[in-house]
Amino acid sequence: MRSKFIFVTGGVISSLGKGLAAASIGALMECRGLKVTFLKFDPYINVDPGTMNPFQHGEVYVTDDGAETDLDLGHYERYTHVTLSKANNCTTGKIYNSVITKERRGDYLGGTVQVIPHITEEIMSNIRNVADGVDIVITEIGGTVGDIESLPFLEAIRQFKLEAGKENVLYIHVTLVPYIPTAGELKTKPTQHSVKELRSIGIQPDIILCRTDRFLPKEVKAKIALFCNVDVDAVITAKDVESIYEVPVVFHKEGLDEKIVDRLNIWTKTPDLSEWEKIIASATLPKKTTTIAIVGKYVDLTESYKSLNEAITHGGMANDSRIELLFVDSETLETDSDVIERLKTANGIIVPGGFGNRGIEGKIRAIRYARENNIPFLGICLGMQLAVIEFARHVAGLEGAHSEEFDPKTPHPVIYWMSTWRDQEDNLQKREGETPMGGTMRLGAYPCNISKPGIAWDAYQTENIHERHRHRYEFNNKYLDVLKEKGLIPSGMSPDGDLVEIVELKNHPWFLGCQFHPEFKSVPRAPHPLFVAFIQASIAGSE
Ligand code: GLN
Repeated sequence: MRSKFIFVTGGVISSLGKGLAAASIGALMECRGLKVTFLKFDPYINVDPGTMNPFQHGEVYVTDDGAETDLDLGHYERYTHVTLSKANNCTTGKIYNSVITKERRGDYLGGTVQVIPHITEEIMSNIRNVADGVDIVITEIGGTVGDIESLPFLEAIRQFKLEAGKENVLYIHVTLVPYIPTAGELKTKPTQHSVKELRSIGIQPDIILCRTDRFLPKEVKAKIALFCNVDVDAVITAKDVESIYEVPVVFHKEGLDEKIVDRLNIWTKTPDLSEWEKIIASATLPKKTTTIAIVGKYVDLTESYKSLNEAITHGGMANDSRIELLFVDSETLETDSDVIERLKTANGIIVPGGFGNRGIEGKIRAIRYARENNIPFLGICLGMQLAVIEFARHVAGLEGAHSEEFDPKTPHPVIYWMSTWRDQEDNLQKREGETPMGGTMRLGAYPCNISKPGIAWDAYQTENIHERHRHRYEFNNKYLDVLKEKGLIPSGMSPDGDLVEIVELKNHPWFLGCQFHPEFKSVPRAPHPLFVAFIQASIAGSE
C-alpha cells in the first residue's frame, strides 16, 4: 500500500492536547494493525529545541539517534511502538537552514528563492522523507492556525494533497468548545472561526476534534458540522479525562478511527484495544498513593519534566499505586531544616537532569537527607553527578568536591569535562575551544553493562542495556577507587569500562544515580525497570 497522510492542526488556543491527539490517533491505527510514523513541524526559528530554555518550551526530548526534539515526540513514542529519529521533528529554522545551504551551493541555478515554492517544497520533502515503509504518516503542525509563523507549513500541507491525491490525505483540526457556566451553554463560535481561518487558506478539515469538558450533544455536533462543512460523525468529542492514557479509547468510542480509515479508504482488521484497556485500568484503579518529590529548578512547570512525570506514573502503575508529585524548588532548600520541612512527606526523592548553577546546593542537601535517612533516591544525569559530589564531600571527606561545570577550580573535580568523547559510532571526538558549549554533548543511546549483584541488576535483570544521554560532564575515574572504598558502587559501566554510567550505595535500601535519562524510554505498556524498582522501594519504605 502507498502511504496515507494525516495532518493535525490546532485552532483557537494552544495547549489543547494536539500532541496527545496525534499520538492517540497513531495508537488507534496500530490497534488496527497499521504501521505508523510521526512528523512534528515546529514553526520557531531555532534549528532544534536543544538550545531552548525548558521554562519556555517544556522538556527537550532525546531520541535514540541523539536528536534533541520537541516533547510531542515523547508522546508519540509512549503511545505507539515507533522509534523516532532526527527526521521526525522539523522546525522553521531547519527548513531555512537547508534551503539557504542549497542556495549558497548554487542548487537553485540562479532562480529567486521564495517561500512558495522553495520553502514549501522543502517542507514537503520532509514529509516524503519519513513515509518509506509505513502505512500512515501522522504530521502535527505546531502552533495555532492564524499564527504568521505556521503559514508556510499550512500552505505546504495544502499543496501536499494535490501531489498525494485526495484519497490519501486527511486533515484533522483540533479546537476548543468551551462551556460557559453563566449561559449554561457550550459555545461553537471559536471552532467556527478557526475553521473559517483554515478554509481561507485552502484547507477544508475532514474531521474536527473538539476539546471540551463534557460530551457534545447531537445538536451541538450538528451545528459545528453545518457551519464547518463536515459530516456530523466527523465531529468528535475530545473530552477531558482523568488519565491521559484514556484518550485513545475515548476517541475510539467516538468513532474516530472508523472515520479515519473510512475516509482514507483503508481496509484494516477489527481494532484490538485490549492493551489500552489494561493500561487504563492500571492508571485509574489504584487506591494506594505514593508521594514522590522532584527536587529541581524548573519546578513551576510540569511541562519541563514531561517524560519524567510520565515515567514516574508508569512506575506507579506497575506497583498499583497512584503517584502524588511534590515539586520542590531546590532554591528554597537553604538549610537542613528547610529540607526536612519540605521533604518530610516524600516517600521517595528524585533529583532530575538539569543545567546551570542555580539551586545546586539545595539539591545536594536533599540528596544528603535521602542518603542519611534511608529514603529511596533516584538521581538522573545531573542528579547522579550531584549524588557523587555529595558522597565525595560528606562520606569520603573530599572537601570542596564539585563538578567542573559549577566550580572549574574545585580541588576535587569528581565530575569533570572530558576533552574527548566517543560518539554513537564509537569515533573519538575532540571538544574544541575554551568553553564546553555548542554541539559537544554526549547525545542519544549508548550501551551500558550492569554488574551483579545490585539494585540496578535487580531492576533490569539483564547485563546489557541501552539508555539515552544528554550531557557534557562525566564521572572522573581518578576518584573511583577512593569513592568505592567508602561504599559507592559503580554498578553500570560503558562496555569499554571507561565511563561510569550508574552508581549505587552500599548501606542504603535504594539509592541509585544514572548518567543517562531512563525516563525517555518508559512507556505505559512497559514501565521502565528503574522507575518500577524505585517506586516499589518508595512504597516499601513507607509501609
Ligand atoms: N549539566 C550536566 C552536564 O552537562 C547534566 C546534564 C543533564 O542533567 N542532562 O553534564
